[in-house]
Amino acid sequence: MSKGKINVSVENIFPLIKKFLYSDQEIFLRELISNATDATTKLKHLSNIGETKLKIDNPIIEVKVDKKNKKIHIIDQGVGMTENEVKKYINEVAFSGAEEFLEKYKDSAKESGIIGHFGLGFYSAFMVSEKVEIITKSYKNDSAVHWSCDGSPEFILKKHNKKQIGTEVILSISNDSKDYLDENKIRDLLKKYNRFMPVPIKFGTKELVKNTGDEKNKKEIKEIVDDIINITDPAWTKQPKDLDDQNYKDFYRDLYPMNFEEPLFNIHLNVDYPFNLTGILYFPKISNDLNLQKDKIQLYQNQVFVTDNVEGIVPEFLTLLRGVIDSPDIPLNVSRSYLQVDSAVKKITNYITRKVADKLNSIFKKDRNKYQEKWNDIKVIIEYGMLSEEKFYDKAKNFALYPTTDNEYYTYEELINEIKDKQTDKDNKTIILYATDVKEQDSYVRLAKEKGYKVLVLDSPIISHFIQKLESSEQNISFSRVDSDTLDNLIKKDEKSISKLDDKQQDKLKGYLEEIIPKDKFTLQLEALDSKTVPFMITQPEFMRRMKDMQSTGGGMFGSMPEMYNVIVNTNSNLISNILSVKTKNKRERLIKQSLDLAKLSQNLLKGEDLTNFIKRSFDLIK
Ligand code: ADP
Ligand code: MG
Repeated sequence: MSKGKINVSVENIFPLIKKFLYSDQEIFLRELISNATDATTKLKHLSNIGETKLKIDNPIIEVKVDKKNKKIHIIDQGVGMTENEVKKYINEVAFSGAEEFLEKYKDSAKESGIIGHFGLGFYSAFMVSEKVEIITKSYKNDSAVHWSCDGSPEFILKKHNKKQIGTEVILSISNDSKDYLDENKIRDLLKKYNRFMPVPIKFGTKELVKNTGDEKNKKEIKEIVDDIINITDPAWTKQPKDLDDQNYKDFYRDLYPMNFEEPLFNIHLNVDYPFNLTGILYFPKISNDLNLQKDKIQLYQNQVFVTDNVEGIVPEFLTLLRGVIDSPDIPLNVSRSYLQVDSAVKKITNYITRKVADKLNSIFKKDRNKYQEKWNDIKVIIEYGMLSEEKFYDKAKNFALYPTTDNEYYTYEELINEIKDKQTDKDNKTIILYATDVKEQDSYVRLAKEKGYKVLVLDSPIISHFIQKLESSEQNISFSRVDSDTLDNLIKKDEKSISKLDDKQQDKLKGYLEEIIPKDKFTLQLEALDSKTVPFMITQPEFMRRMKDMQSTGGGMFGSMPEMYNVIVNTNSNLISNILSVKTKNKRERLIKQSLDLAKLSQNLLKGEDLTNFIKRSFDLIK
């Protein structure tokens, strides 16, 4: 037996560990399981390269809660430690054996997936324990040793008669951490941090019901089996060529058991130079309520869960995706959950962005119909990405879609080619008309379509920003909502009809109209359009509407904008002929009022008393 002092530079590191090193107490279990996994991986590796003749037989890790004695046991069948190794790796805090192992077996071990590299993980056990013991037997044929330490820098080391190779760590849980003696709590922790770790983790047993016998003699056999917590070969660790659609869907289910929707597409990440990163990202169906997102991307390091806060690693617009990213190269600090942002991370972020863009592009190219069907569910992410990442914008230009009210889907280039001859303003700018709400803007959509214009349906929550982005990035285009004055300008330009009215009639009409239509709210425009075009139409100046939109999203710098609308009166319409020829002033006024109200109605402007009067007047007209 030997006694000694743990070699740390500070006299007593434990209070420090307890307080500062780890943000989360619960990670002690993750660290100990990681060590057990490392030990098992190492032994397998040594056996693979012929360094040991030992037969490795599906080693597992076992976790046991002994509530009565207030202990937790973590038992592995890995390399174990000799007495000297315990002295070296355990007593010398912050001397990471994992790092030394990797250094020594550099070339062969790179791929083996060793987790540890801070040399402090083991000591996290003291956050919840008043005493920690290690009983360990090395594969090197030494006698087993028993190390114990009560949280002070003093330790005790003696021989032990353990025969099986491997390590058992025993935590005597301290009083203020009693919670961890609850089996459910430990199971939850194992499921949270270790669900995809590579060595099977046994936690108790469970009953398995098996059906045997043929159709006639069905028999149920109940069997007690080990309860294995983890999936040791999660999909992201495999090669894409070894996985089919169903495998990806199944893995999604494993990741988010409470989510019943199917993902739309998946993106398998797999790179080993200049950094190591694997993972699978999924495009979920995204509702317009962006806040309702709880299933997040999970970050792993060598199959150990680290965090589901991937801010800084994944570009913001992709945090709406789901799935996993696993990279030992993401620099995290000792407590692992905090990211140290550096240039390596920037590379990773760029890689992920590029990969997502390439995948979308290839789906678009391969199966455009399928892609179009899903456009509605993915557009927010793509539009948001184009807004926020210039590099993504350049790529996404080829596969971002612009659906029309007739369910055609154009790319930007296709759209411009389609409309550039027909939809231009007087400065030869191409005008892109769009509706944000096809129901509310129905009469305008119809009118535009009658005139042969294309109307896009652009209804995602960030659309006004997206439009601004396009207008500033692309040449010679301008977006206009379909109910704006741009529509009547287009029509005016297209329809240079000869007026049916002479100047005198025109002046008379103007006088009649001005009596009824309030000047402070409406700008009156008399236009000689096709006789079949609507007689009265209200539009809002595009500029004005944008200012108001900005105001309502908080960017207002113009105070309260006045309500200004245009009333376009088609002087060639039959209704206008009627208004001019009607006998009594009363009847004429009634016709004008009715017409104005109808135009207001299609802009959703008829409310309150005006609406009531309109209804009354309408009944009078038909009775
Ligand atoms: P790290 O895992 O970062 O190397 P730790 O403090 O977690 O640091 O562990 C220190 C070292 O102790 C490990 O590198 C390993 O050499 C040794 N060790 C810890 N736990 C075990 C175990 N279960 N089996 C064998 N060796 C272990
Ligand atoms: Mg460790």
